[in-house]
Amino acid sequence: MPRVETGACFCGAIAATMDGEPFWICYDHDDDCRRAIGSPLTVWVGYRPSQFNLLRGAPKAFSKTPGVIRTFCPDCGSSIGYSDEGLPDELYLTIGFFDKPEGLRPQAHAYWDLRLPWVDFADKLPRIDRYSRKRDAKFGNPSDR
Ligand SMILES: [Zn+2]
Repeated sequence: MPRVETGACFCGAIAATMDGEPFWICYDHDDDCRRAIGSPLTVWVGYRPSQFNLLRGAPKAFSKTPGVIRTFCPDCGSSIGYSDEGLPDELYLTIGFFDKPEGLRPQAHAYWDLRLPWVDFADKLPRIDRYSRKRDAKFGNPSDR
């Protein structure tokens, strides 16, 4: 049976299913996400937008960096998604959105150079100082825009 993950925001107003396997899961230590999410780091779970099926609610979208859209619940404020025109056909969902996050194991650390100085991991995962995904160079890097 194909894998289906379920997710919801903190208040439950927004819920979705994610069909099939995520193509990428990574820790993210970057400062924009730290501030947007309110956590020292997060884990992003990457899907194709077509794998995301909204069951209820309407996430609100916010963009501070051109080309980057973050979504969240307008009622409870839970962060939900991240999309970026430099990463076409990729939708990242916060690990906190998932009902069963224990089954979603990160594969790498992204923006390792921006980690907080007291963040320490004993894992053997790749530590990448920038995006862990190949970005379309024509869009530049969000931090440079
Ligand atoms: Zn909510």
